[in-house]
This record gives sequence, C-alpha cells and structure tokens, in this order.
Amino acid sequence: MRKILLIFIFFSHFVLANNLPELGDYSSSKISENDEIFIGRQILFQVNQSDSIIRDIEIKDYLDLLARRLINVSTDPTKRIEFFIVNDSSINAFAMLGGVIGVHTGLFLAANSESELASVLSHEIAHINQKHISRFLAQQERASYQSTFVMAIALLLARSNPQLASTTMAGASAGSVQGALDFTRENEKEADRVGIQTLNNAGFDVRGARDFFETLKKANQFSGGAAPAFLQTHPITSSRINDIESRLKDFPYKQRIDSQTFHYVKGKLKALLGDRSDTKNILEENIKNKIYINEGEERFALAYIYLMNNEFEKSQEQIQWLFDNQKTNPMTSQLYINYLTKIKKFTEAKKLYEENLNYYPSNRSFVYGLADLYLKTQETEKAIKLLKKNVRRFSNDPILYKLFAKGYSNQGKKLLQYENLAEAAYYNFNLQEAIIRMDLAIKANDGDFYQKSRVESRLKQFQRERQIYTNNK
Ligand SMILES: [Zn+2]
Repeated sequence: MRKILLIFIFFSHFVLANNLPELGDYSSSKISENDEIFIGRQILFQVNQSDSIIRDIEIKDYLDLLARRLINVSTDPTKRIEFFIVNDSSINAFAMLGGVIGVHTGLFLAANSESELASVLSHEIAHINQKHISRFLAQQERASYQSTFVMAIALLLARSNPQLASTTMAGASAGSVQGALDFTRENEKEADRVGIQTLNNAGFDVRGARDFFETLKKANQFSGGAAPAFLQTHPITSSRINDIESRLKDFPYKQRIDSQTFHYVKGKLKALLGDRSDTKNILEENIKNKIYINEGEERFALAYIYLMNNEFEKSQEQIQWLFDNQKTNPMTSQLYINYLTKIKKFTEAKKLYEENLNYYPSNRSFVYGLADLYLKTQETEKAIKLLKKNVRRFSNDPILYKLFAKGYSNQGKKLLQYENLAEAAYYNFNLQEAIIRMDLAIKANDGDFYQKSRVESRLKQFQRERQIYTNNK
C-alpha cells in the first residue's frame, strides 16, 4: 500500500511545484477539459513509475477487455478511461480525476464471480461518466481555484487511501476532505443505479452488485478487515443496500457462467503474489481434497508456481491436465510456451507462438512473447517484421516501442532506436523524456530523408503538447 500512496504524495508535490493552480479559467472554479486530461496524464505518469503496479499483459488485457465491454454500453461509450492494477491485497477500486481507475489485486482475488468484479468496475465507470469528482469540485464556490486544486489532490488521496489522506492534507483542511467523502456518499446511489444498468446491458448478472457487498462483509469479518478502504470511499449504508435490492427486482434472473479466463487470471495472480511456498502447499491440499470453486484455476496457479520453481515435470503434468480437461484458452497456450521457453525448446516455442497468433492475432501476450524470443535468438529481422505488423493495432503501447528499440539497437540503427524509445516514453505519459529521446533521434544522423522529417514533426508535436499543458494560463 505504501508505495502507491507515495505516488499520490509525489503527485501533489508535482502539481504544487508547477503552480498548477494557475491553470485554467480563474473566473469559475471549474476544472477545464484540458486540466482534466493533464491531471489524468500526470496520474498515469506517476503510476507508471511505480513498482507496485501489475504490468502482466494477460491480466491487464483481461481487465481492459472487461472494462471495454462495460464502457461500450455505459452512459458515455466514447469516454476514454484508463485502468491500472495495484499490487495490494485489500479489496478496493477507485475512480480519479482525469478518467483514471485503479483496481487492487485484492478485488480480483475476492470476487467470487465475474459479475461481482464487473459490478465494481461499472460502479467506478459510473462515477467518472457522471463527473462526480469534477462536479463536486465545481460546487465548491467559496473555494478559490487554488484551494480547489489542493482539494482535488486531497480527494485523490482520500479515494486511494482514506487513512493517509487524513494525515497528509497538503494544505486542505480535514473538514473539506470529510465534505468530499460525504459528497461521495451522496453519489454512491447514483453510481449504483447507473452501474447496475451498465452491468445488465453488458450481459452480466446484476445480482453481482449485491453479492459483492456480501463478499466485502465476509472479507471484513474473516480476513482481518481487508475491505475498509473500499468501505470508506464507498460507504455502504442500509438505505443504499435497500435501493439496490429494490432495483434488482426490475431485472429477470440471469444465470451466467464465468469465463475460464476470469479463473486463469485469478490463478495467475495467486501464483505471482504472496508467499509462493505457502500458496503451493494450499493449492496442493485443495486439489488433493477437492476443495475449490474452480479446479482449473487451482491447477493453473500450481502449474505457474512449479514453473517458477523449476519443477518442470510437475508443471508439465498440470499443463497436460488443463489441455485434457478444459476448453482451449490462449492463457493455457501461453503457459505451455513459457514452459517450453524455460526448458530452452525455443524452436518449438516459436512455432507455437506463430500458430497461436493465427488464431488470436490481437493477443498481445503472444506478440510480445514472440518478438522477445526472436530478439533473444538473434532473429532481429523477424522481430521487427512482427512488430511492424502489430504497431497499427496497438499504436499507444509503450512495450511494443521498447521491443522495436531493442531490435533497431541490435541493428545499430540509432535514429530508429531513439525514435522508438521516445514513443515508448510518450505512451508512458512521460512527455519530458519523450522530447529528450526524440531530440537524440534527430541528432543521430543515420536516417533517410523520410525518417528525419518524421522525427522532426513528431518532436514539434510533443513540444506543442507541452505548451498546451504548461502555458494554458
Ligand atoms: Zn462509489
């Protein structure tokens, strides 16, 4: 928890140090669209620097796809909302200014169904679509613009961690933050109402919303209070529960089977987080005694743990079970390819990657993995060809540009290497770094006319963007 909290302290320092309160329109205490975009980018920039963020592409893609399904049928399908995953075992999710939503790993692991997880996401999406945070700030008429901004920061802190917010107010009084939370309380019902509609539109079981409250209650009782962060930013009152209950009556009963990917994502998180040998013992016991919600989830987790422990035969046994007993799933293929790579069967691994990409051309885990393997085995041409094929589809993916840069570095092509490092920085929301790298690309002097004019115009675009964010007074 600490690390992610520090992010927000740094964020507030950054904002204050850059005199951000002078941004925007003085005459109203409203935060302009530009300011919001800027704040969103700053949050994501800080988030990207953090080592408490889960960057696993399969887990991230699962969340993004699930969220996209919900946003597409929400009140504002065109809204750009960015998600990030915090490595934190407490059950929490929080929406922030600038269209950014953070989700704790604890929420994934606690959710008993995909509908429960989706109910929390659609609630947070509703907070953003209904402009709850910016509307609140705009309502603070008596507050000067400066204190509004300090409030914005305090509110960000409050939403990520209420305990910390109460001790680090960064100039805002405790009372005003309490007010912010009270305001949130008033908005909870609206977010529930809008969120449940979205949940239903997307084909999930709306009862997931009520089930999640039960999950929270149990977590609080049995797991040493894993839920307070969520409860404090999203207070659950009895009138709120009554509201949800009466709303649920409007929707017919819907039996929904969770996707296997939901279970594999949970399995992978189990394997990656916590004490590995403890988890291994628990999983082995669960499988032996047949105590589980989803057998595939347990075996998937165990296969990854064995693989990380270099217990290859045991890992292979679990993978075989998954192939024999579960539907075909790209995550199982990726697991098997990881196994092959680890036992150095590179040719077989590459062949499987290529085959799988024919079936799942937009699967980034395969694209990253194959490009990386090509680079590892000195097939740079092939790596670059694969990346070129995918760069249009994932034009804002920093990892793709980093892989490009590695390939061009192997080939000694300086302009192209720096250009791609600049793009990687840009899509990591680090405009300053992007400008420095693009400048190096221009100075590299080993490109053709077309490449040179491309990097020059891109640099100008970055500089214009910086102007918009810093000179908008
Ligand atoms: Zn809420």
